[in-house]
Amino acid sequence: MKTTRRDFVKSAGAGTLGATLIPAALKARAPAVSDGSGYDVAVVGAGVFGAWIAYSLRQAGRKVALLDAYGPGNARASSGGQTRVIRMGYGDQEIYTRWSMRSLELWKSLFSPLGRPSLFQEVGVLWMARGEDPLTTKTLATLERLGVLHERLDRAELEHRWPQIDFGPITWAIYEPESGFLMAFHAVQATVQLAEAAGVDYLQEAVVPPEGKGRLSSVTTRSGKKVEAGTFVFACGPWLPKVFPELLGERIFPTRQEVFYFGPSPGDARFRSPAMPVWVDFAESIYGIPDFKGRGFKVAPDRHGPAFDPDAGSRIITPETLATVREFVGRRFPGLKDAPLVGSEVCQYENTSNGDFLIDRHPERDNVWLVGGGSGHGYKHGPALGDYVTARILQGGAVEARFSLATKEKIQKRAVY
Ligand SMILES: Cc1cc2nc3c(=O)[nH]c(=O)nc-3n(C[C@H](O)[C@H](O)[C@H](O)COP(=O)(O)OP(=O)(O)OC[C@H]3O[C@@H](n4cnc5c(N)ncnc54)[C@H](O)[C@@H]3O)c2cc1C
Repeated sequence: MKTTRRDFVKSAGAGTLGATLIPAALKARAPAVSDGSGYDVAVVGAGVFGAWIAYSLRQAGRKVALLDAYGPGNARASSGGQTRVIRMGYGDQEIYTRWSMRSLELWKSLFSPLGRPSLFQEVGVLWMARGEDPLTTKTLATLERLGVLHERLDRAELEHRWPQIDFGPITWAIYEPESGFLMAFHAVQATVQLAEAAGVDYLQEAVVPPEGKGRLSSVTTRSGKKVEAGTFVFACGPWLPKVFPELLGERIFPTRQEVFYFGPSPGDARFRSPAMPVWVDFAESIYGIPDFKGRGFKVAPDRHGPAFDPDAGSRIITPETLATVREFVGRRFPGLKDAPLVGSEVCQYENTSNGDFLIDRHPERDNVWLVGGGSGHGYKHGPALGDYVTARILQGGAVEARFSLATKEKIQKRAVY
């Protein structure tokens, strides 16, 4: 069954300002709103969230500083991997489907003026399901309701289209032809590049966690610089528990996540686009991205790993996880049974209790915003989130309950995938 896309931009659920991307930003630094010494907003953390918040605020005419301890999309950051999936399906969590739809448009309009459209690869996303599968069934209904282009495929059709996959117990699937993957750290760096061109001041500085209570007037960096601003946004991903240990130490759970890249045989085109889409097997908590530019066929378990320190944690994969992943690959993709491991990454999810993002004011500092909790699915949403945070800062108003600090429990019970 095919459904066509409807106009979704107005009802995308993101901030009402909309990040209207200005190609002129590429040509000249736009003038800042105020010439005073302080910034309107200082954003700490240039991962996908901070980069888009800074860019969106600048689009709205604010004087913005963006700071990062290690650099945009650095190897320790959650946004620092090679690739991230962008899919529209989210069960019945409609807000995330709307944000994905909105974000994909914004990602594309970011990449075009930069002349780098390949930072998004429209290779399609295949959701594999078995039997009743409530998550996929709800996803189907949401995609239909919101007019996302998709197909429902039965087993015979799956085998016909992708003979290189052994579908095992899978009985049906949803295919999103206009989804795919983003070149993760490159796209964050591109966002910061464009933000700087638009007038954001980027500083590679580590911010000392602020102490005390009440309005924050400045932050200090480890090198001794003082950055003054009217509003502060801490978008520190898995570092949020370190920056605000009392508040978030037990509410954001950074977990160790391993990613594997397998090398297909020479000349074997079955595991790269257009023969292979992004695929997700929720029942087995695993997903993958086709071989791209010879970097290998990516396979990543989605189950939460052990607790992880983003500064000092070991980035070497474990033989146990490799063995589990190899077993799965041999079963589902028999042509890769003996494929060599050609690369790996160890990253971290920064999970909230249920997977909903954290976007809220600090309870004791009304000009400080806490933004994070991407929870293994946040990357794709960077643009819509940037828009949303900008709207809340500039227009006020309550945040959605699901994003509030009050809803962040100290016990993990995952509900958003
Ligand atoms: C293996 C893996 C696979 C994933 N797959 C997907 C996917 O397919 N699709 C998807 O949508 N999402 C996916 N995600 C989730 C997504 O990548 C994250 O949710 C998202 O990147 C989080 O971005 P962030 O900006 O909050 O954090 P980060 O990218 O970690 O950025 C935080 C930044 O803050 C900086 N910082 C921290 N403390 C300070 C300080 N004191 N001073 C200055 N700077 C500081 C850090 O250097 C860092 O650059 C995945 C995550 C992982 C780990």
